[in-house]
Amino acid sequence: MTDTPVVELAAPDIAKYRDGGAGIPFVHTWDSGKPGRHVMISALTHGNEICGAIALDFLFCLNIRPSTGKLTFAFVNIDAHALFDPKSPYASRFVNEDFNRLWEEARLEGPDDTVELRRARELRPLFDTVDDLLDIHSMTSNSPPLVLVNALEKHVAMARRVAYPAYVVTGPVFAPGKRLIEYTPFDDPTNDKTALLVECGQHWAAASGVAAKETAVRFLAATGVLTAEAAAPLLAWPSLAPQQVLDVTDGVTAETDTFRFTQAYRGCEVFPKAGAVIATDGGREITTPYDDCALIMPNHRARAGQRVARLARRRA
Ligand SMILES: [Zn+2]
Repeated sequence: MTDTPVVELAAPDIAKYRDGGAGIPFVHTWDSGKPGRHVMISALTHGNEICGAIALDFLFCLNIRPSTGKLTFAFVNIDAHALFDPKSPYASRFVNEDFNRLWEEARLEGPDDTVELRRARELRPLFDTVDDLLDIHSMTSNSPPLVLVNALEKHVAMARRVAYPAYVVTGPVFAPGKRLIEYTPFDDPTNDKTALLVECGQHWAAASGVAAKETAVRFLAATGVLTAEAAAPLLAWPSLAPQQVLDVTDGVTAETDTFRFTQAYRGCEVFPKAGAVIATDGGREITTPYDDCALIMPNHRARAGQRVARLARRRA
């Protein structure tokens, strides 16, 4: 599709955050001087996902400082974000390659040289010291917000402590490469480091900016950076829906350029019976493989060879 989306959100001017004093551009760390966890919120891992920048801009204005441990706010793919143009908003996801698919030692330490690898190598020593990470993203689909975690239960437990958004989606991405939340220190069951990737909603919908702020404030409360009393007046939704955990089992990749969903699914729809036809791909029917199957992040713009959705089993 060549549809031009409505861009309701305005990207904040992040130029004022370039010098954080820590030697890495667009990274700000505050050290309490006392022992404790290193809590980090990152935004713009994809350069055009501006809701995260809006959330960080909001948090910067609050002058939050940790009472123990360290707190870091970072804008990640700033070179891609510098290309952001509301008239062509899809074009600035990355410069050379997806920053969120290169978190493997073989790539990070290998011979390749891209804009994104350079930034990843610059940020890697920082990520190595982080205990609790929230990486803020948004989606092509007009889906309800959801939090993605790798399959380890420690991440599900953190998502439950944050208590928002309502959908917690675990498991692999079914695309090549590793996401930041799958980077080795976070993917290690023998430590207690956690990493959450929140998908706040459609990339440029006004509601995604609200969801980004809500998740960030609740994450800072869950990690102890903010007290419950300090967080309460910052919340948009004082009471929340119960969370639902969805375990991803399958990835769906388009084989043709005529992949079409059977309806304008938004995401998180649950199909009660196996065999439900959810899409056609060049005439081939795509069906749900089991009962109570949830459709995650349907991409109505996908072309041949691109992942169009994931399928997940609803946890009892
Ligand atoms: Zn993203």
